[in-house]
Amino acid sequence: MGAGFVWSERIATHVYREDHPLKPKRLIAVRDTLERLGAFTRPDARVLTPRAATRDEIERIHDPDYVEAVMRASQDPDADYTEWGLSAWRDTPPFLGMHEISLLTTGATLTAMEEVLAERLRVAFNGSGGLHHAMRRRASGFCIYNDPAIACRLLADRSLRVAYVDIDAHHGDGVQAAFYETDQVLTISLHETGRTLFPGTGFADERGRGAGAGYSINVALPPFCDDPAYVRAFDAVVPPLVERYRPDVLVTQQGIDPHFSDPLTHLQVSTHAREHVVKWFAKTPYPWIAMGGGGYSLDAVRRTWSIEFLIMLGAAIPDELHDPDPPIHGGDARASVDAAVDEAVRDALAAAWT
Ligand SMILES: [Zn+2]
Repeated sequence: MGAGFVWSERIATHVYREDHPLKPKRLIAVRDTLERLGAFTRPDARVLTPRAATRDEIERIHDPDYVEAVMRASQDPDADYTEWGLSAWRDTPPFLGMHEISLLTTGATLTAMEEVLAERLRVAFNGSGGLHHAMRRRASGFCIYNDPAIACRLLADRSLRVAYVDIDAHHGDGVQAAFYETDQVLTISLHETGRTLFPGTGFADERGRGAGAGYSINVALPPFCDDPAYVRAFDAVVPPLVERYRPDVLVTQQGIDPHFSDPLTHLQVSTHAREHVVKWFAKTPYPWIAMGGGGYSLDAVRRTWSIEFLIMLGAAIPDELHDPDPPIHGGDARASVDAAVDEAVRDALAAAWT
């Protein structure tokens, strides 16, 4: 049924702060690579122009007071917004126009969602989305409005059962928090353990509450987790739980900061493990809304998201996009990473609903 690629020049050229690690311009390299490979001229490919999200949509997840604060920061970034998680020299700085651009990055995810729900596409990818750390009343970890949570909420509002799978290196804490007490959205996050990485959460015992007990699944991977260990963890947890849950729709956050070259994290995943994972998403029968997320090694972002969109199209993947020589542990390191992954898998499965 085809794959959509959401594209906006305006999103791809905005800047958080000159020295900030999240560089929206990374999306230009993804688009240029796909264009060079002829991806967009395939009959099953569509380039989608995003709409802006509405304030009502944002407020399905965020507190109106927080939205007001972001709107003020957007016009007057030099005032003090630290109580809202916005701070000039920290992770999430206020900047001119931040509200408007954040409405557009969220709207880009909603555009993807609408095309998939209307059955015009099987999958649509918004590389600028996946801002999974934003909380109800607080910006966090480069994230202002939580577009994955907003999309999952709007899907749940339509009485759809949603499986949200987050493969960013960081725990999808904001999305988990939004659906902690409901079984209508299953959240599964595979990430580097909070013992060594921001935001410090995402342990298996965070399993949801009330009706949501067992519907927040966390696989806390050891730092230095490589391809064989990562693929084993994914296969042991994600396919069985998603299939047991039987969602109406699949929502994925595909941050590529687990890559071994990423400067902010310690996982050692390569394009090969990601191909395995995203091919599983592609072969499921569910309508699929896909987002980007973290990714601070710009060439890893370019190659991996290009691979992932080609998978969405069912197109061949040229060797030039793959890591030629991914790190694979041997000896004692192999045994210790494998043991830690086995424990993470066991704990995650034990926390799931029955
Ligand atoms: Zn991340």
